[in-house]
Amino acid sequence: MRLLVTGAAGFLGSHLSDRLLAEGHTVVGMDNLITGSLDNIRHLESEPRFELIEHDVTNYIDIAGDLDGVFHFASPASPVDYLELPIQTLKVGALGTHNALGLAKAKSARILLASTSEVYGDPLVHPQPEEYWGNVNPIGPRGVYDEAKRFAEAITMAYHRFHGVDTRIVRIFNTYGPRMRPNDGRVVSNFIVQALLGEPLTVYGDGLQSRSFCFVSDLIEGIWRLFESDYTGPMNIGNPTEYTVRDLADMVLASIDTDSEIRNHPLPVDDPKVRRPDITLVRNELGWQPEVSLEVGLERTIVYFQELQARGLLETPPVLTD
Ligand code: UDP
Repeated sequence: MRLLVTGAAGFLGSHLSDRLLAEGHTVVGMDNLITGSLDNIRHLESEPRFELIEHDVTNYIDIAGDLDGVFHFASPASPVDYLELPIQTLKVGALGTHNALGLAKAKSARILLASTSEVYGDPLVHPQPEEYWGNVNPIGPRGVYDEAKRFAEAITMAYHRFHGVDTRIVRIFNTYGPRMRPNDGRVVSNFIVQALLGEPLTVYGDGLQSRSFCFVSDLIEGIWRLFESDYTGPMNIGNPTEYTVRDLADMVLASIDTDSEIRNHPLPVDDPKVRRPDITLVRNELGWQPEVSLEVGLERTIVYFQELQARGLLETPPVLTD
C-alpha cells in the first residue's frame, strides 16, 4: 500500500512510519516541523519507500498518485505546546482533519484519525470507556487541543456517515518512549531529563493525580491492528496500569543515578485528576493489550535520553507553571 502519515517527523508519526515500512508499504510522510524533528526520520533518508513532504496540513493537501491510506497524526501534543501554539493546535485538529478527510475521500483511501484521551477532559467516570462523553472546559488552556480533537472526531464520523469514507479513530492515552523531545514538557521526558541533569523533578500539585503510561511500541502495534480491522467507532488504546505522578517521579529517581530531589510546583489549570483507559473494547475487537511494563519502558527511554545527553543535546526542560 501507499500510505500518507501526517506528522511523520513527530514522536508517534516517526515510529508509525517505521512500522508501516517494516510491513512492506510505501510511506509518504508530511510534516511542517513546528513540533516534529528531522532527527526522528534521518534514518529513513536512504529508504526508497519513504519520502517527506514539508507541508502544513491546515492548508490544502495535494498528493500526486494513488493513496491507500491516511494516518492523520499531525498536531502539537504537549500542554506546553497548547500554550505556545494555541491557534495552530486548533487549526490542525479542525482544518487539518478536514483536509485529510477530503484527501482520503478523493483517493478512496482509508483514514485513521489520531484522537486522544483528552476528549474525556477531567473525567468524572473512571476508568474511561469509549461511551463516556467527557468533561471538557472549552475555554480553558487545554481546550484548544481537547475541542479540536473532539471536532476532529465529529467531522470524521460525518465523513464516514455522509460520504461513506472508510474511517478509524484511535483515542491515544499517555504514551512515552524514545524520540520524545527532550524539551517536550510532558511528564515522562521532563522527569528523565531533569534527573539526568541533576535538577529537581518538577511535580505539579501534590503529585497525587494519576496517569497510565503506554510504551510507544505497544501503542503502534494497537494502531496497526486498528487500521487493519473493520472497526469504525472510536477505540481507546493505552496502558491501563495507573500510577500517580509522584509514583512516576520515585521510579525515575530509582532508575537514574542522580542527586535530584522532588520540587512541587502549582497544578496547571484543568489538569485531569485521573486518567486510565478502559481497554475492554480493544481487547475484545483486536486481541490487543500492552506488553511493556513501565519499568522496562522507562529503562529504554532513559537510554535514549542518555544518548542525547552524550551528544550535548539536553537542556533544562520547560515547566508549564513557571
Ligand atoms: N506533570 C508534572 N510535572 C511535569 C510535567 C507534568 O507533575 O514536569 C504532571 C501534570 O500535571 C499531569 C501529569 O504530569 O498531571 C501528566 O502531564 P503531561 O503533560 O505529561 O500530559 P497530560 O496527561 O496532562 O496531557
